[in-house]
Amino acid sequence: MVDRYLEFSHTSFGRALSSMMGLPQPPRLRRDTSGWNDQPLGSRAVSVGATHGADLLPVLLRCLHDSGATVRVRADVGGIETLKKAANEASVALTNQPAPGEGEKSAALVFDASGARLPSDLRVLFDFVQPLVSQLASGGRVVVIGRLPAQLENADAAATAAALRGFVRSLGKEIGRKGSTVNLLEVDPAADAALPGALRFLLSDHSSYISGQCLQLDAKGDMPAVWTASLTGKVAVVTGAARGIGAAISEVLAREGAQVIGIDRPQEERSLAETMGAIGGQTLAADITDAAAPELIASELMSRFGGADIIVHNAGITRDKTLRNMPPHWWDQVLDVNFGAIIRLNEKLLNGVLRDAGRMVCISSIGGIGGNAGQTNYGATKAGLIGYVAALAPKFAEHGGAINAIAPGFIETRMTAVMPMIPREVGRRLCSLGQGGKPLDIAEAVAFMASPYAGGVNGKVLRVCGQNWFGQ
Ligand code: NAD
Repeated sequence: MVDRYLEFSHTSFGRALSSMMGLPQPPRLRRDTSGWNDQPLGSRAVSVGATHGADLLPVLLRCLHDSGATVRVRADVGGIETLKKAANEASVALTNQPAPGEGEKSAALVFDASGARLPSDLRVLFDFVQPLVSQLASGGRVVVIGRLPAQLENADAAATAAALRGFVRSLGKEIGRKGSTVNLLEVDPAADAALPGALRFLLSDHSSYISGQCLQLDAKGDMPAVWTASLTGKVAVVTGAARGIGAAISEVLAREGAQVIGIDRPQEERSLAETMGAIGGQTLAADITDAAAPELIASELMSRFGGADIIVHNAGITRDKTLRNMPPHWWDQVLDVNFGAIIRLNEKLLNGVLRDAGRMVCISSIGGIGGNAGQTNYGATKAGLIGYVAALAPKFAEHGGAINAIAPGFIETRMTAVMPMIPREVGRRLCSLGQGGKPLDIAEAVAFMASPYAGGVNGKVLRVCGQNWFGQ
C-alpha cells in the first residue's frame, strides 16, 4: 500500500506545509534492490573509532578495506594508538577525518567498543561519535561493536558492555529522521570470524529499515566464502508465498541464487503461480493447517529436490479483538496457522528433509515482543516463535545450521492495508524512521539469516521495524 503522507511530504507544497505546521517529514529510505555484493559501500568513506584494547579491529578494518571503503580515523581522540596498531596488522591504510564542512560526509561510522570495561572507557565513544553525527550522510549507518555482557569477567565490565545497548537505542531515535540507522553487534570471541557478514549487511542498503537493534553473534561461524549469489545451489521453501512478505522473501532468495518452492493455500494458487513464475520458482498448493500437509510437503520436497536447505515459516494471519470479545474459533485459527502448523510441519521437516547446515527462519512480529491490544492470540503465537527458535538453536547447531526469527514492525502489505485508518497511521509513524517498512525489508533480513552472512547468529530474533517504539 502507498504511504500517501510520505509521498505528499516530499512534494514542494507538502514540504512547505509540513515544516510550517511542524509535522513530521519521513525520510525516503535508500534501498538496494540489486543482489548482495562484496562492495556494499562502494568507495564511500567510513569513519572508524575504538576504545583502548579493542580487539576486533583487525577483522573489522580488513572487512571495510575489502568492501572498498575508505577508512577514516580521528587522530585527536583516544583509541588511536590501538587503531594504528590494528591497521598495521591488517595492512589497511588509514586516512585522517576531514574537518567539518571539508570533504565528503561519512557514509558510516563504525566503533569497536570491545575493549570497554569501565564506564569511563565509554568517553571515547562520545568523543568519537558526537562531532561526526553531523558529518554523517543522510541514510548513513552507525554500527557499534561490543562483547556479550554475560561473558565478561566482572559486573563492571558486563554493565559497561550493556550500556552500549542504551546508547544505540537512543541515538537511533535521534538520527532516524534523516533515514540513518544505528545498530549494535555483540560478538562472542568464538564468532569473531563471522563479524564481516553481519557488519556488511548492517552497513549496506539492504538493511535500511533496521535500526536500534542489538544482534548477538555467539554461534561458531566463519566469514562467508562468497559475497555474491551466496544462496546458489540451495533449495528454499517459503510458506505464504503468494503475496505480501512471502512473495518478497521468495524474490530475494531467488535473486541470491536459491531455487525457491512457494507454498500457499489452494485458493491462492493463481497468484502463487504468478509470483513463482516470475522468479523461476515452483509452486506447492497446500493449507499448512491441513492434517495431511506435513506429509505432503515433506514428500514433495524429497521427490522434487531430495530435501531442502532453507525453510521460511512466513504464513500467518490475524483475527484481532480484545480478549473479552474474542470468539474462541479466532483464538484457535490464529494459534493453528501461526504456531501449531509450524510445529507439526517441523516434526517432518527436521526428520531428514532439511539437510545438514540447513537454515530455518520464522516470521514473528514486534506484536510478540511489545504486545498489542486486540492481539492476545497473535501476540502469543509470535512470542511463542521467538521462544521456539531459542529452544531449537542447539539442535540446529549440532547439524551446522541455524534457526532464527525476524520480527517485522509495521509493513505495507494487505494485512496492514485492512487496518482502520487511525491505528494504521499510528503504526506507521511511531518509529524512528517515521514510516512503514516494505516487504522487501523483511525479505532482505530473511535472506541474511538464511545465508552464510549470518554465520555467527543462531536462536536469535532480529526486529525489522524502523525502531518501532513498541516494546523497545
Ligand atoms: P498477507 O496476509 O499479505 O500474506 C500472508 C500469506 O500467507 C497469504 O498469501 C496467505 O494466503 C498465506 N496463508 C495464510 N494462511 C495460510 C495457510 N493456512 N496455509 C498456507 N498459506 C497461508 O500477510 P503478510 O503481511 O505478508 O504477513 C506475512 C507474515 O509476516 C505473517 O506471519 C505475519 O504475521 C507477519 N507480520 C506481518 C506484519 C505486517 O505489518 N504486514 C507485521 C509483523 C509480522
